Amino acid sequence: MNPTPLSELTTTGVGGVATHLVTAATNDELVTAVREAVDAGEPWCILAGGSNSLFSDEGFDGTVILVRTTGIERQPASAESAETLVRVAAGENWDDFVAFTVKQGLAGVEALSGIPGSVGASPIQNIGAYGQDVSGSIRSVEFYDADAGQIVQLTNTELELGYRSSALKTGYRNGVYRVARPGAVLSVTFALNSNADGLSEPVAYGQLADKLGVQVGERAGLAAVREAVLELRASKGMVYSSTDLDSHSTGSFFMNPVVSATFAKSLPDDAPQWPAGELNQIELVKLSAAWLIEHAGIKKGFSLPGSRAAISSKHSLAITNRGGASSEDVAQLARFVLQRVQSEAGVNLLPEPVLYGIEL
Ligand SMILES: Cc1cc2nc3c(=O)[nH]c(=O)nc-3n(C[C@H](O)[C@H](O)[C@H](O)COP(=O)(O)OP(=O)(O)OC[C@H]3O[C@@H](n4cnc5c(N)ncnc54)[C@H](O)[C@@H]3O)c2cc1C
Repeated sequence: MNPTPLSELTTTGVGGVATHLVTAATNDELVTAVREAVDAGEPWCILAGGSNSLFSDEGFDGTVILVRTTGIERQPASAESAETLVRVAAGENWDDFVAFTVKQGLAGVEALSGIPGSVGASPIQNIGAYGQDVSGSIRSVEFYDADAGQIVQLTNTELELGYRSSALKTGYRNGVYRVARPGAVLSVTFALNSNADGLSEPVAYGQLADKLGVQVGERAGLAAVREAVLELRASKGMVYSSTDLDSHSTGSFFMNPVVSATFAKSLPDDAPQWPAGELNQIELVKLSAAWLIEHAGIKKGFSLPGSRAAISSKHSLAITNRGGASSEDVAQLARFVLQRVQSEAGVNLLPEPVLYGIEL
């Protein structure tokens, strides 16, 4: 039994110990670790920054493989293209990579500043914030396919990047729990705009545009966008910091639900909603999970009696550890939120983080 508890490797700070904990510092070590875990026929999983993973208090009865690979490689831009390819090892810190792109004058991921975690996890749920997500910049992913026992290149299309989802993410999709394609992301190649004259991609989010003093659709300085995003995020407890308990979470615990436009009409007029396409000729809209939670009477800072888990005091979508919380404290609060939203609005919220041994 490895003595390091998973609570020390995850941003929510909960979770027991894993039977085996293997650290991979090179791609060879990562592939070997996955291959050996598969051969052993025991449960295994990949963990990187631990900012979107929750383990039960019992820990993990199998092998947890920690991704700690490094390397950022900028490829020379061709004269006729505005695109620069940057290949990044899975274990690189996401925000360090964003800082690198801004410094190099490359546009495409600046609005994703301050998201905790690793580069290798970025395609898993197509990380997104402030009007940008990685579906717009990922060119391909180098992936060790554990079923096939070989390394493959997955294109942007093959990744099926959607709202907080991909072909690689274990989680709820279209209402069913779907097991991901088993394997490990080894590196991610981004196609970034190197012809932006120090400017960002068009700003696509009202609150960010207001802070920058531009209109939605206009560009701003890359560094200014990064700084504005970091400030906005910190004010909501969305930049991980050991001293900010509101960030001891997995960020948003629930996804914004997509429902039929007809159903959405049964909600109060002030319920925010955005067009979300069509399915079988049924018009869909996306609702705000934060609004639904607050509408169900659960305010920021809410906690169940005797629990060390609480809704963030800065953001109603985050479930936080106030110090000494157990996984069960977090799960109980999540269940409470699910039940309240279901009974008040008739909507089933779906969790965003990957849950190991935790039933909601
Ligand atoms: C304060 C806070 C704010 C957040 N804000 C946002 C936000 O704005 N937008 C957003 O999208 N997310 C947000 N998140 C969630 C989280 O930061 C992202 O999902 C991030 O990409 C997770 O990276 P990680 O390395 O920590 O993943 P982990 O938690 O280590 O892993 C998450 C999942 O990815 C898998 N995985 C990780 N690395 C690999 C790999 N190399 N190969 C195969 N599978 C892998 C794991 O097995 C697991 O299933 C936030 C989290 C926190 C704590």
